[in-house]
Amino acid sequence: MNFDVERYRNDFPGLNRSIYGRPLTYLDNTATSQTPKCVVDAIEAMYYNSKANVHRGVHTLSQEMTMLQEAARERVRRFINAYSTEEIIFTRGTTESINLVAASMGRGFRDGDEVIVSVMEHHSNIVPWQLLSLNGRNITLRVIPMDERGVLDMDAYRTMFNEHTAMVSVTHVSNVLGTINPVKEIAAEAHRHGVPVLIDGAQAVSHRRVDVSDIDCDFYAFSAHKMYGPTGVGVLYGKKSMLEKMPPYQGGGEMIAHVSFDRTTYADLPFKFEAGTPDFIGIAAMHKAIDYMESIGMERIERYEKEILDYATGRMESEFPSLRIYGKAPEKDAIVSFMLGDAHPYDVGLLLDKQGIAVRTGHHCAQPLLESLGLEGVVRASFALYNTHEEVDRFIAALHRIEPMLL
Ligand code: PLP
Repeated sequence: MNFDVERYRNDFPGLNRSIYGRPLTYLDNTATSQTPKCVVDAIEAMYYNSKANVHRGVHTLSQEMTMLQEAARERVRRFINAYSTEEIIFTRGTTESINLVAASMGRGFRDGDEVIVSVMEHHSNIVPWQLLSLNGRNITLRVIPMDERGVLDMDAYRTMFNEHTAMVSVTHVSNVLGTINPVKEIAAEAHRHGVPVLIDGAQAVSHRRVDVSDIDCDFYAFSAHKMYGPTGVGVLYGKKSMLEKMPPYQGGGEMIAHVSFDRTTYADLPFKFEAGTPDFIGIAAMHKAIDYMESIGMERIERYEKEILDYATGRMESEFPSLRIYGKAPEKDAIVSFMLGDAHPYDVGLLLDKQGIAVRTGHHCAQPLLESLGLEGVVRASFALYNTHEEVDRFIAALHRIEPMLL
């Protein structure tokens, strides 16, 4: 397809680094993506020229920064097609977004309640729900199984609801298998039972167009650092009707209407959930990152990455009889987790690094998934809009070099 990847690569000066004298081949985009110059420049400019706390000052700098932050909120709203900016809450990232929902909604859960998750969840969509059992209540996780391709068993899912089901919380895209889950169908089924739905969008938002109104989820969580943006910033989308009913998550400045020692009233949405000084420069930089992705086009990014995925998968499967890929869903993002024979993933990762190739090894914060596959870890190569066919070639050549060393 017509995708000027070399032009986009120039936007990412960090990609020009060399590692051990070899050109960097960055294939760890699932963990975090690199950041384009326009975003870094914007951060620098804001630190030098516009740094002032938001929503607090009458002075020009504060008003400017407040406008930048609130413009970012509107940009995020448009990016995911939410109904209102009241539904866009800024957090530290996906993990905090999920913890916010679990802690706030969870206060209303009763002993014996159940939360439906899938077998392919990241720990950040498992542990926050388990924490709800710490105060004496017993909250159980019900786990949607998958087949050998890594496709969720929707029939099993449909049988999991009962009068104790309090929440469904499922990832949009698996960070290990790459599976794109049928989140619209998952949400519709939950709503048939009157159960709210959270979708963990950490691995989705930078690879495809996400429309929360179309999915009709109650909550959607994601992180800026995985979408070419800054670290330490993320978003929780929540339907206004849900957020209005929920108690605050943290207390402090910004989230109040009036405080006295006897009684405090809370600010309106979205500020009710934004206690303390936010990372306003990070938030405004996320705006730039969204502009950057949209200037290329989410549909084009999705198509290009699929091409890279198919090319990498094809070569890996045809050239390495000992190589096993985990995750073969028909709907799949550009993530390839694999084992090279019985070589330890750590050894594969280290030897690839010596050739300038950055991949991830280990359990990828999805230990229950890895255990269900009978593994302790896998090697994961994950791609972004700036990865090229030549980089896949380099990766394959490096695998050819290390295979005889390890097997
Ligand atoms: N959910 C998924 C599917 C992820 O892949 C990740 C990070 O890798 C997270 C949640 C957590 O994201 P963060 O660490 O940015 O909060």
